[in-house]
Amino acid sequence: MSRFTPETIERVRDGADIVEIVSAHTDLRRQGERFVGLCPFHDERTPSFSVKPRDGFYYCFGCEAGGDTIRFVQEKEGLAFPDAVESLAERYGIEVEVETEDPRVEEARRRRGRLGEALTRVAAFYEAYLWEAPKAARAKRYLTEERGLGEEVLRNFGVGFAPSAWDSVLTRGQRAGFSVDELLSAGLIQRSQKTPGSHYDRFRARIAFPVRDHRGRVVGFGARGMGPDAKPKYLNSPESEMYRKSNTLYGIDRARGPIARGGRAVVVEGYTDVLALHQAGIEEAVAVMGTAITPEQLKLLGGYAEEVVLALDADRAGREAMLRAQRVSGSARLRLLVAAMPEGEDPADMMLSPSGSARLRKLLSGAVELGTFHVRAILENADLETPSGRDQTLDELAPVFQSIGESIQRQSMFQMVFDKLDAPPEFIERRIRESRPRSTGAPSTDSSTTNDGRGTQQPTRREATPQERRQFQMLALLMAAPAEARPYVERLTAEHFSSPILRRTFEWLREHLDDPLEGLAEDDGDLYNAVVRLKALDHEPPTAANLDFRWRLLDRDRMQRELRAAEAEGDSGRIVALQRELGELKDSIASRNG
Ligand SMILES: [Zn+2]
Repeated sequence: MSRFTPETIERVRDGADIVEIVSAHTDLRRQGERFVGLCPFHDERTPSFSVKPRDGFYYCFGCEAGGDTIRFVQEKEGLAFPDAVESLAERYGIEVEVETEDPRVEEARRRRGRLGEALTRVAAFYEAYLWEAPKAARAKRYLTEERGLGEEVLRNFGVGFAPSAWDSVLTRGQRAGFSVDELLSAGLIQRSQKTPGSHYDRFRARIAFPVRDHRGRVVGFGARGMGPDAKPKYLNSPESEMYRKSNTLYGIDRARGPIARGGRAVVVEGYTDVLALHQAGIEEAVAVMGTAITPEQLKLLGGYAEEVVLALDADRAGREAMLRAQRVSGSARLRLLVAAMPEGEDPADMMLSPSGSARLRKLLSGAVELGTFHVRAILENADLETPSGRDQTLDELAPVFQSIGESIQRQSMFQMVFDKLDAPPEFIERRIRESRPRSTGAPSTDSSTTNDGRGTQQPTRREATPQERRQFQMLALLMAAPAEARPYVERLTAEHFSSPILRRTFEWLREHLDDPLEGLAEDDGDLYNAVVRLKALDHEPPTAANLDFRWRLLDRDRMQRELRAAEAEGDSGRIVALQRELGELKDSIASRNG
C-alpha cells in the first residue's frame, strides 16, 4: 500500500491536470463545465466519456470506467497506486512526503530489504554459475538445445544453476554477512533432519528460475531438477514473508508493460513456457506457480489487463484450473478466455517447431470465452444416454449459466446444449432456472455493477429492484445538494437501504457528504464504484419539495419491508400500528403527487 501521506495524495490529485493526462489517450472537447470524448477504455462511436476538471475526475457512461487522475494513470499505464502517485508527482513537480511509520512496520520493511538482498545476491550467484561453471554444462545444454531457449532470453530472466554442493549458499551467505536465520527466512537454506542444529542449501543441482514480484524484486525461486531421478522435479521456495505462491506470477515484472499496452495477458503453466513465449515476441506471458489461478493473481493481472487468456495444458489438471478460474473471476473486471493447448504439448514444446509460433498465435487469437469452454467440457464428459446422466449434466451446467447472465455468449452456449441434449429449449431453460440457488441481499446492479472494461456487463449481477433504484436516486440527490440534504441524512437510517452496498454507500455519504471522494479507498471496489458513479451522474440539485417527496417514498418502502417482516413473525400489534402509519404516509404521498 501507499506510504505517501494523505496530504501528498491530495496535492497530487489537485495538482495534476486531468484534462491534459486524459488528452494523451483520447481527444476531448469542451462542453460547458466538462470535457467529452470517445472513451479510452472501450470501443465506441459516439462519445460517452466525460471529464470534469473542477472535480478532477472522469467517468464513462458506456462502460462505467471512472475515477480520479491517479486511477486513470493506474489503469492506462498499468501502474500500481503508489507508482501512479509518484509518476504524477514527478510530472507536475509536486513534492511528496512519506508517512512516518510504526517502528514495527519499519523493522519489518528493513528485514524484507535484507532478505530481498540475500535473494538477489543468490540469484546473481546461480546465474554466473550457469554460464561459467563446467558442472552446469548439462543444464545449459538442456535449456538451449532441448528447450530451444537463447542466451538473450535466459539472461533477461536471470536463469541460473544451483551447484550440487550442500553448502554453497550457506557458506557464501554467511560470509556476506547474512545470518542463518535470515537465509532460512529467505527460503535459501533448510534445517537438517539428521543433524539437529545444522543447515544445508535448499536448492542443489537444479536450474534456478528467479521469481520476481511485479516491481522486479527477487522473492524466491522455482528450481527444476536435472535428470529423471530428481525428486521433486520442480522445487519452489517455501511460503514465507517474501514469497507467497498465491499472489505471485512468474514473469510479471517483464510482462507488465506489454500487458498494459495490449490489454491482454497470457497465462501459461511453466517457467520455460514463459521464456519461450517471450522469445517468440509474445511478451505478455506469465505463469501461475502451480495449477490453479488464484483470486489474488487475477487481481494482480486486473491492474494491467482487460483480457486474460489461459493457455494451459488441455489435460485434466489444466482444465480444472480453468474451471476454478471462472469461479474466482466473479468480481474481477476481467474477460477470461481459454486457448486449449493440444493434448501432450505445452507452449514451450510448440515453439520448438518452425511453425510453432504461428500455431500458438493462432490458438491465442482463437481463444474462447471461459463459459463456452466450460459448457463444452461438461458436454464432452457427459453421459447423455441415460435420464439420470442427462439430469446430472443439467445440474452441472446450471451454475455455469447462472454466472453468465443474459448475453450473446449465453445464447450460443444454450444452442450448444440444445444441439447436444436434443430436448426442447423451454425444458432446458426451466430446468436451469429451477436449480438456481439464489441468495438474497445480493448487491444490486444500481450501485455495484462491475464491468469488464469493454462495454459488456459482468454477468453475475442481478437487476436492481425498483426499491433499490429509488434508494440510489436518493443518494444521488443527497450528493447533489449537501446543505439541503443534511436534515434528510439525519433522518435516514441503514434500514432505508435494502442492499449491503447501498447501505455502505449511504453510511459513507453520511460521514463524507461535503467531499465524498476524499479519503475514498481506491481498492474498495464496490464502494469506490458506487460513489464515483453517483458523483458522475451529477444530478441537478433537487428542490426542497422533491427531496421531501423522495424521502417519503423511501420511508414507505422501508415500512412495507417492516410490515412484511411483522407479518412473517405474526406480530399482530405491530402489524396494526404499521398499517395505520403506512396508510397515512401513502395518503400524504398521493396528495403531493397529485
Ligand atoms: Zn467507456
